[in-house]
Amino acid sequence: MAIIIDGKKTSADIKEELRVETEAFIKETGVTPGLAVVIVGSDPASQVYVRNKCLACEKVGFYSEKYEMPEDTTEDALVELIEKLNTDDKIHGILVQLPLPRHIDVEKVLLTIKPSKDVDAFHPYNTGKIMQGKYDFLPCTPAGVMELLKRYNVEIKGKDCVVIGRSDIVGKPMAMLLLQADGTVTICHSRTKDLAEKCKNADIIVAAVGRANFVSGDMVKEGAVVIDVGINRLENGSLCGDVNYAEAAEKASAITPVPGGVGPMTIAMLMKNTLTAAKKTIK
Ligand code: NDP
Repeated sequence: MAIIIDGKKTSADIKEELRVETEAFIKETGVTPGLAVVIVGSDPASQVYVRNKCLACEKVGFYSEKYEMPEDTTEDALVELIEKLNTDDKIHGILVQLPLPRHIDVEKVLLTIKPSKDVDAFHPYNTGKIMQGKYDFLPCTPAGVMELLKRYNVEIKGKDCVVIGRSDIVGKPMAMLLLQADGTVTICHSRTKDLAEKCKNADIIVAAVGRANFVSGDMVKEGAVVIDVGINRLENGSLCGDVNYAEAAEKASAITPVPGGVGPMTIAMLMKNTLTAAKKTIK
């Protein structure tokens, strides 16, 4: 039976480590790491994410500011707020909760965030640094996956890794990180031929598709490690991942559940990035 990779516990461990590190940092420098979280509109899922991010800040001892803007906020007003936060010394990280309302150009907004405060690592400057393997920040979800693999002693070097999904925020950076860890990476997407066959040969599968139960048990090699990034809400309101957990767990040597796998790691990595950003200002 597969080892269950416990993201909830790992995330709590990381937050406790960060709390201790933050306390020491504040004592040494007098600087409290600060995160500004900006939300536009009233999307209920986004509201929950933002609340959890602010609570995590409290837990690790950061200063945080929450900016709630109405749905009809103009792009100019949002850009103006970010420019103000870019020059605010109390704020080391800026996070704009996505998705934004349709009338706002997301790319323009993300480009406005100063790269040294871009704790989501979505700015092209940070994305480029990740390509070169010389990054300060990693996007939180792929970073969370790498941390889970590290803490569960999953060897990546020389392994065949399949990443399903090629989004800018999950699939692409995920593939790049596995490559930098010496994995041999195949990136699959909606136009991939023989996807099941490719998965069957993989030592590590990372599913970031956004389709419930997309990876079935017969796509998993005996002993493979299965990481499920997907978060899908079923009609009955429950959450499930991109992997058919019951089937895959029969074959895998280790697997992440949903919920309680990759999800909780994302916020822990955001905290880590914010502390890194604060430390950089001291250097
Ligand atoms: P996107 O919708 O941006 O990307 C999905 C990817 O899956 C695309 O590259 C798409 O291919 C591919 N895909 C879709 N259908 C198929 C198919 N039938 N066969 C093969 N590939 C397919 O999603 P995200 O990357 O943003 O998110 C992926 C999942 O991860 C979602 O469930 C999301 O909720 C979850 N997520 C979880 C986070 C966490 O904290 N745990 C954080 C972020 C996301 P193509 O490019 O060809 O269209």
